[in-house]
Amino acid sequence: MPKATETTLEIDLKALQNNFDELKSKLQPKTKFLAVVKAFSYGNDSVPIAQYLQKANADYFAVAYTNEGEELRNNDITKPILVLHPQKANLQTLLNRRLEPSIYSKKTLLEFISIAENSNQNAYPIHLKFNTGLNRLGFDKIDIDFIIETLAKTNAVKVVSCFSHLAASEDLSEQEFTKNQINLFKDITSTFITKLGYKPILHLCNTSGILNYPEAHFDMVRSGIGLYGFGNDVRYQPNFTPIATLKTVISQIHILQPGDSLGYNRGLITDKEIKTATLPIGHADGLTRIYGKGKGFVFVNGKKAPIVGNVCMDMVMVDVTHIDCNEGDEVIVFDREHTAENLAEAAGTISYELITDLSKRIKRVFLT
Ligand SMILES: *Cc1c(COP(=O)(O)O)cnc(C)c1O
Repeated sequence: MPKATETTLEIDLKALQNNFDELKSKLQPKTKFLAVVKAFSYGNDSVPIAQYLQKANADYFAVAYTNEGEELRNNDITKPILVLHPQKANLQTLLNRRLEPSIYSKKTLLEFISIAENSNQNAYPIHLKFNTGLNRLGFDKIDIDFIIETLAKTNAVKVVSCFSHLAASEDLSEQEFTKNQINLFKDITSTFITKLGYKPILHLCNTSGILNYPEAHFDMVRSGIGLYGFGNDVRYQPNFTPIATLKTVISQIHILQPGDSLGYNRGLITDKEIKTATLPIGHADGLTRIYGKGKGFVFVNGKKAPIVGNVCMDMVMVDVTHIDCNEGDEVIVFDREHTAENLAEAAGTISYELITDLSKRIKRVFLT
């Protein structure tokens, strides 16, 4: 790869394949794999990622919203796509593009049946989400009879899967809570299946669920962050490779004298001579203001350079006093060694937030 001459997110599809293989190696041969490609594939660009994973034989895809699914349909993704959080206003579009809704409440069930009936559908695939403790979205166990009675009155929809979501699968101090979620999921789904009369696909685990709870894989697993190279645990990380490298370049170097200030609101006032480098990446690119004032850092010629002052919209300044560098030099914001997870943690957040925040205006380059 030639050195970056502008802010660039390099995405390594070989690393994606490695992570996919690693996750699959944890599954029973019959367990299906759902690739979570919501939020622009966690900032990586959903279309090339989904196209790659479709060829690599992922069984299912999931997005959060209908428009994300539409974009995949517009770009040759023909595999089933689960929409995790459809909104009423988009249900007709969802159906027109054969996207599959997560149905999580009585209201969403009735609304979708009405749309499906009005479009003369027969056995349109739907997914029922049950709440087992995350308390975010999902039916409760007491809703089962309502669901069964409602489904008995229509042929327009068919339940193809039942699922739930773990609240703390990466957190080993919450094993008991997670095991309760697993048991409740088993209890709810066995009651539901008995009344329904056939067995839909069951799925519960996200990436950390796959790694920490092999007994809870059921018929399918759903992975996002693992595909993008984060194992959420030092024990698993060696087998995963972050797929993205965020690079930028030095636009200008300044020497500041004691008493000089730097950037908006004079975010830094120096007490000694320092050398700063200005980089073409800012909070509009997803490097948000939490990384300012010494919390975040980048790597210039292999050396750590803290972000100083406030992060601007389109730029950030870093302290390169002790680094031999020049205008035009390449800068690493994160890569495999200097991970997005480390940078996120230094500013008090998580890899998920840093990578999904990366704006669409950052150029993406795919390495094959
Ligand atoms: C985002 C999401 C996932 C993916 O979780 P990872 O931790 O990224 O693997 C799985 N299931 C649901 C319901 C989600 O919202």
